[in-house]
Amino acid sequence: MTYLYKTPQLLKWYYPNLIWDFTTAEKCVYLTFDDGPTTEYTLWILEQLESYNAKATFFCIGNNVEKHPKEFEAIIKQKHSVGNHTYNHINGCNNSLLSYLRDIRKCEAIFKSNLFRPPYGRMSNKQSAVLTKEYKVIMWDVLSGDFDTSLSGEKCAEAVIDNTTNGSIIVFHDSIKAADRLKIALPIVLETLTSQGFTFKAIL
Ligand SMILES: [Zn+2]
Repeated sequence: MTYLYKTPQLLKWYYPNLIWDFTTAEKCVYLTFDDGPTTEYTLWILEQLESYNAKATFFCIGNNVEKHPKEFEAIIKQKHSVGNHTYNHINGCNNSLLSYLRDIRKCEAIFKSNLFRPPYGRMSNKQSAVLTKEYKVIMWDVLSGDFDTSLSGEKCAEAVIDNTTNGSIIVFHDSIKAADRLKIALPIVLETLTSQGFTFKAIL
């Protein structure tokens, strides 16, 4: 698996219409949780966030929102923000513009959002051109690597803490696959960044 914890500046310059981070003098960061909601972990994530008075953004899969409406409502009730992450978690590069948009609309029919994140961070330039007109397309500045089963939770926390700066958008996953690492990494990240003076905001 090839990926970088920190998104290179060159990539940000190359795709300026996508949002990779926020320029802010304020000491705040934007935690994001992809692929939920889940019955197993969403409520646990919400508890962790609440205990640090942290707000975050959940990029939800439409099909999971249909399956787990209570967990979705809990996200909304605690005033976190939500973003469209397609209905079936499909890869834009393996789909035509039409079928990709159809899947995004299907998610949109379940909940409305002005935010979109492409699954796997992949989409064609054509898809991107259409979507950036309709949505704020939110990429990331820092990957926790929680999806990587070869890593420890502590390593994921370290990757986040070492690479976070003001306005960083940080990716975690609300999924069974990432849970072993998330359960260790998230409390460490919340505790450490809070002690460094950061606050946690939802993307609006
Ligand atoms: Zn995803």
